[in-house]
Amino acid sequence: MAAVKKLGKRKRVALVAHDHRKADLIDWAEYNKTVLARHELFATGTTGKLLEEKLDRPVRKLLSGPLGGDQQIGSMIAEGEIDMLIFFWDPMEAQPHDSDVKALLRLGVAWNIPMACDRATADFLLTSPFMHEEYEAALPDYSEYLKRPI
Ligand code: PGA
Repeated sequence: MAAVKKLGKRKRVALVAHDHRKADLIDWAEYNKTVLARHELFATGTTGKLLEEKLDRPVRKLLSGPLGGDQQIGSMIAEGEIDMLIFFWDPMEAQPHDSDVKALLRLGVAWNIPMACDRATADFLLTSPFMHEEYEAALPDYSEYLKRPI
C-alpha cells in the first residue's frame, strides 16, 4: 500500500497573507473563528499578529514572510509539521520575496498539502468533513528520486 500521512482531527493550519490580502484573510478568519478554534494556527509574523488581535487567541508566529517566514513554513511542510496552508498571495503585485512565494507554493504541492489561495477555496476546505476527522493523505514517494543515479 502506498504510504500515507495521518492528519489528526486537530489540524495544524498555516496562514499567510500578502499586505493587500490581509484584510480579506483576517475577515475570513474572524467569520470562521469557531471552526478555527478547534485547530492549531501558525502564521508568518505580521499576519499572525493581526490574527491574534482579531481572534483573541494564540497563534504560533514565525518570522515575517519576506524575512524568512515563508521559508520557515515551507520547511515545516517538508518536515510534516503543517497539515494545511491558507495562503492569500497577491495576484496584482510583485513581491520582493517572489522566489520565496514560489518556493512555498511548490513545497505545498510537493508534499500534498491541502492549500487554499483564495477565499472560495478556503471556504471549501474549512467546510470539508475531513476538517474534523482524521484524514490519511497520500504521502508522495520520492524514493526513486533519492536513489537516482548521479
Ligand atoms: P507577513 O508575511 O505576514 O509577515 O506580512 C506575509 C508574506 O509572506 O508576505
